[in-house]
Amino acid sequence: MHFELIKKYNKSVTIVFSILLLFVLLDFLFPLPAQKEFSKEIYAKDGTLLTAYLTSDDKWRLRTELDEVSPDLIKAILAKEDSWFYWHTGVNPIAIVRAFYANITAGENQLGASTITMQVARMLEPKERTYFNKLTEIFCAFQLEIKYSKKEILELYLSLLPFGGNIEGVKSASYIYFNRPPHKLSLAQSIMLAVIPNDPNSLRLDRSNDEIISKRNFWIEKFNNDKIFSSSDLIDAQNEPVEKNRYAIPVLAPHFSQYIKDNIKGDITNTTLDLQLQLTAENLLLRHVNKVFYKGITNGAVLVIDNKNSSVVAYCGSANFYDESSSGQVNGITATRSPGSTLKAALYAFAFDEGILTPQMKFADIPTDFHGYQPENYNLKFHGNVTTEFALVNSLNIPAVKLLEQVGMNNFISFLENTGFDKIGMQRNKLGLSLILGGCGTNLQELTRFFSSFAGKGKLYPLNFITTDEDQEGEQIFSEASSYLIANILSGLNRNDIVEFSNYSKLPKFAWKTGTSYGKRDAWAIGFNPNYTIGVWMGNFNGAGSPNLSGAEVAVPLLFDLFNAIDYNSDLKWFEQPEELITRKVCSESGLTPTQYCNNVITDFAIKNKSNNKTCDFHKPVYVNLDETVQYCTNCLPSSGYKKEVFTVYSPELSVWLYQNKFDNHRPPKHNRECTAKFADEGPKILSPSEDYEYYLEKNSGQEILLLAGSDSRVRTQYWYINDKFYKKCRPGERIFFSPDTKELNITCLDDKGRDGSVKINVKYY
Ligand SMILES: [Zn+2]
Ligand SMILES: [Zn+2]
Repeated sequence: MHFELIKKYNKSVTIVFSILLLFVLLDFLFPLPAQKEFSKEIYAKDGTLLTAYLTSDDKWRLRTELDEVSPDLIKAILAKEDSWFYWHTGVNPIAIVRAFYANITAGENQLGASTITMQVARMLEPKERTYFNKLTEIFCAFQLEIKYSKKEILELYLSLLPFGGNIEGVKSASYIYFNRPPHKLSLAQSIMLAVIPNDPNSLRLDRSNDEIISKRNFWIEKFNNDKIFSSSDLIDAQNEPVEKNRYAIPVLAPHFSQYIKDNIKGDITNTTLDLQLQLTAENLLLRHVNKVFYKGITNGAVLVIDNKNSSVVAYCGSANFYDESSSGQVNGITATRSPGSTLKAALYAFAFDEGILTPQMKFADIPTDFHGYQPENYNLKFHGNVTTEFALVNSLNIPAVKLLEQVGMNNFISFLENTGFDKIGMQRNKLGLSLILGGCGTNLQELTRFFSSFAGKGKLYPLNFITTDEDQEGEQIFSEASSYLIANILSGLNRNDIVEFSNYSKLPKFAWKTGTSYGKRDAWAIGFNPNYTIGVWMGNFNGAGSPNLSGAEVAVPLLFDLFNAIDYNSDLKWFEQPEELITRKVCSESGLTPTQYCNNVITDFAIKNKSNNKTCDFHKPVYVNLDETVQYCTNCLPSSGYKKEVFTVYSPELSVWLYQNKFDNHRPPKHNRECTAKFADEGPKILSPSEDYEYYLEKNSGQEILLLAGSDSRVRTQYWYINDKFYKKCRPGERIFFSPDTKELNITCLDDKGRDGSVKINVKYY
């Protein structure tokens, strides 16, 4: 008995193994057809389809998941096509026998013996209808059932169902026929979508509606008899009118969608875009471009980042994607442009952390020559001795270039390279000091992301385009204290790039920096507060400049409108002052630690263990006579008739500039002429040109006049100014030339001891 049992058992094992082996062999010989390519679908944060793209074989084939589809549609399809779907293993033997019988008795070849799984097999690899192909289809159905779950098979089916022309899948059909996502289909619409795939090429919803309605009603009646749906729902469905038009797949946020398509893998992408906010930004951008169009500015771009999770919530690459005359399809968010002065915020923040600066420390904003590079300010004016805060908020050029020189070009470029400015990294070897005034390339995306680090307490995060629960790792690029200082300085209202506040009733507080590129080609305004970082660019995609273009006048009004619309009435809490940021007393004129000679002391911020502690060297005690007309040194100090008085002693360049520009400057009087100490000598004595001569020059001939001055032996450098503009520096006795272009010339020579000499000459041209 036992032996018999084992024999039987062995026999069954052999059979099972043989079947398995056969399956493995067949599976190897006839592998499952490849998965179809699906359309890329891009969704907004609220689940609205922004757009979809044709597949490479030009199909609308939107991948459909079960939970995206109205349960009525699934119920109708299962009842109609394959009511045993969840019970069979790919093939329904009863249906096959029934179909076979029907074929013989009625010669009919219609009854669907094909299960949903078999239909999927056919849709994956359409073949001629032969008995052999039917067999491979059956085998393929087994393979599908083994490799995929029922849910996955049904999803494939819903995604591949043909709906005529290039429309495949119920989701594509739902948008194109009914202009709605498939979970919003009515029962009537669901039944029609179940019917059309039977004959997709003749059942076209906008052409053969009568036929579709009659088929629909046939199934309504059948469903009623079979009690698949409630009668009242089916009566409603029967009375529902049928659409006469087709719709297009939506095209919302086109530049954003294109960016996602090009940069993020996968066929369905759920993005962070806030559709309401996007539409608001699009409207405001278009309105502003229309407003400045007469000024020769035809386009703009806006990027809005939600600082909570560094997610992109609005993304407008141009004012009008479809306007070809202004190259609307160019993406102004990723286009490389000159950043104007926007990078100054980065430089000052960097310098705060390096300990070089505090907000009240001073800069000389006077004409300066940087090895042949002589930048000017945007308004062509100079401001003398200014605070760091003033220099940043008013975007002064000389202080920024000086600071860049002090920080070191290489250090700063490496910093920018590591904080997402890819193009700047690539141009490294071509960049000069003008970098800080916009002499480099970047784009709105890099800039706006960078500015969001000020809102992120100095942490820079990757931009989020897709919804994710993961917390992103940020990189601390500034200290919290430095970010706080930038936020405070750039949210100040005492500045020239501002919009009339009375236009807004409840504008939230934010900080912003503007920029205007060389040749007035790009206007920038990048703003941030704890909630949002918003970047605005305005200009022309063909690169043309406009004399009316400036960050302050063209980009700032849009930035204000955006904050007003997006962050309106928010219960905004401003950034908290970090602990490492302390306050300290400084001399009001130098911004440095005061000495006993500093009269005016004010409060300034400093970063603990970072900001430098230099003491004020502006205020010095000097021996003078009683009416303060003669200065003494200890060498020539008389026994009586003198006093010790505190004077402000600036750098020689600043001192001369202040004097020439009539700033009230309490500078010490000239040194005692009778003093025998060597440095009591007079300042530079200009030898050429001379006030005693008349200069005749041929017009436009480029003829030059010699500049030459004598100085005492301690002087190492002389500085020449022509009509208050710095010209050149040289060693004493060195002969330099210049070619004048005006009639009246006021020529000053200044030495490195702060003494100066001037001549006024008239030039006659013939
Ligand atoms: Zn002082
Ligand atoms: Zn003396």
